[in-house]
Amino acid sequence: GGADLDCEVLVLGGGPGGYSAAFRAADLGLKVVLVERYASLGGVCLNVGCIPSKALLHVAAVMDEVAHMADLGVDFGAPTVNIDKLRGHKEKVIGKLTGGLAQMAKMRKVTVVRGYGSFLGPNHLQVEETSGSAQDKTGSTKTIHFKRAIIAAGSSAVRLPFLPDDERIVDSTGALALKAVPKKMLIIGGGIIGLEMGTVYSTLGARLDVVEMMDGLMQGADRDLVKVWQKMNAKRFDNIYLKTKTVGATATPEGIKVQFEGLDGSKSEGVYDLVLQAVGRTPNGKKIAAEKAGVAVTERGFINVDVQMRTSAPHIFAIGDLVGQPMLAHKAVHEAHVAAEVIAGELKGDAKLASAAFNARVIPSVAYTDPEVAWVGLTEDQAKAEGRQVEKGLFPWAASGRAIANGRDEGFTKLLFDAETHRIVGGGIVGTHAGDMIGEIALAIEMGADAVDIGKTIHPHPTLGESIGMAAEVAHGSCTDVP
Ligand code: FAD
Repeated sequence: GGADLDCEVLVLGGGPGGYSAAFRAADLGLKVVLVERYASLGGVCLNVGCIPSKALLHVAAVMDEVAHMADLGVDFGAPTVNIDKLRGHKEKVIGKLTGGLAQMAKMRKVTVVRGYGSFLGPNHLQVEETSGSAQDKTGSTKTIHFKRAIIAAGSSAVRLPFLPDDERIVDSTGALALKAVPKKMLIIGGGIIGLEMGTVYSTLGARLDVVEMMDGLMQGADRDLVKVWQKMNAKRFDNIYLKTKTVGATATPEGIKVQFEGLDGSKSEGVYDLVLQAVGRTPNGKKIAAEKAGVAVTERGFINVDVQMRTSAPHIFAIGDLVGQPMLAHKAVHEAHVAAEVIAGELKGDAKLASAAFNARVIPSVAYTDPEVAWVGLTEDQAKAEGRQVEKGLFPWAASGRAIANGRDEGFTKLLFDAETHRIVGGGIVGTHAGDMIGEIALAIEMGADAVDIGKTIHPHPTLGESIGMAAEVAHGSCTDVP
C-alpha cells in the first residue's frame, strides 16, 4: 500500500542505540528515518539515565569531598542546597546534549519522526504521532515504508506489582526528578542504579535503607571491590537488608510502610518518605507488534540476534537493551554501528561492510558511586566458580602517591591473567575515578596484552592510572615464563 514516507533504513527508538545506528547509516550514505515517541532524542541514557544521574553524582561527590576538606585544614562550613537550582542544572545538562543530537540528525539529513511506532508488516511501520513533552498521541498516523529496519526500542523500569500507586514510590526516573530530599529513603534493589541514586540522596541529607534479595550489594562485581565501597559508605545506611524480599507496602499519612521478609523467614518493617524501586529493567520488545514484521520476541520481551545484530527476519536488526544484558549505553552504541554497517554493506554491495560483526571480548561495568567501582572481563569470583586458574596482580592505593596526596587511598587496582597464556582476562578497580581508568584494562584485554606489556608501558607519575602498571608488575613476578 501507499506510505507517507519511504526510506532505506528505518530506526525505531532514539536512544544511544537508535541515534548511533541512524547517524552511522546516514554517514554511510543511506536514507534514514528515525522514529522516537518523545520530543527529545537520547533515550533513557540522556534523558532519564546515565547523564542526569552523573550530573547529580558529580555534585554529590564534590559535596562529600568538600566536607572531608575540614580534616585537611580547610573548612568550608555546612553547605546550603538550592534544590530547584540543582534540578535546573541537571535539566540544562540534558538539554545541551539532546539539543546537540537534534542538530547532528539535521546535519546528516536523518528524518526524525515524532510518534509511537509499531510494525504493520515486514516492510511497513505505523507511527501514531505524539506531541508535547510526554508521549500523548495526537490521533494522526503516518506509514513508513522501509527496506531495512533497526529496532532500538530499549527498556523500561520493572515495577513491583504489589506496591501501591503513590507519588512517594518512584522508579529511577522519579528519583532523578529530584522533587524533594526525604528524611528516610528506602532503596529496593541493591544494584548500580539504586546505589547511585542513594548516593545522591544521602549526600543531600536522606538516611538510607536498602533491601536486596541476593547475599550482597552490586551483584556482578568482585566482593573485594564491593567491600571497600561498603566500608566507605556504611555511614549512609541505617539498615542493609540482604537475602531479604520486599513483600508488601501501604501508603499512610506518616509515610510508606514497607514489609520485608528474610529468606530465613524473619520479618521486619520500616516507614519511609521515599521508596525507590530499582529492581531491574525489562525490554520493550512486546510493545511494537514485532510479530507482524516476522521478528521473534522472547517470553520476556527480548529480541534475539546473531553477531551481526540480525533478528529472525533477515532484513530487520535489533540492538541495545532490547537484545539482552548488559543493558549499557556503550554496548548499544557498538551494536548500532555493526547493524548500520551490515545494512550499508548489503544495500551498497560492499562485502567488507556487510561482514561487520559484534565481536567485543569484554564490556566494562561502572558504578559511579563514591568511591567508584569498575570491572571488566573475567572477575575473580567467576574464575573461582568456574575453576579457572588465574594469576592476580593487586596494587593497593595505600601505596599510590597520588591517591595518598588526594586523601583517598582506600582503593585498589586488580588485574587477572590466564595462568597458562599469561594474557590479561579481567580487571577491577575501586577508588575515585575508577570508571575513567577501566577502559585501559578493556583495551589490554582486546589487544591480548600480558603482564609485561602493561607493566612496561610507562604511565605518568603521579597518577591513579599508574596503579594499572603497578598491578601488572605485581603479577609479573608470578608470570615466570613470560619473555
Ligand atoms: P533506550 O535508551 O531505552 O532508548 C529507546 C528509545 O526508544 C526511547 O527513547 C523510547 O522512547 C523509544 N521508543 C521505545 N519504543 C518506541 C516506539 N514504539 N515508538 C517510538 N519510540 C519508541 N548505561 C551506561 O552505560 N552507563 C550509565 O551510567 C548508565 N546509567 C543509567 C542510569 C539510570 C538511572 C538508568 C535507568 C539507566 C542507565 N544506564 C546506563 C543504561 C542506559 O541508559 C541504557 O543501556 C541505554 O539507554 C540503552 O539504550 P537503547 O538505545 O537500547 O534504549
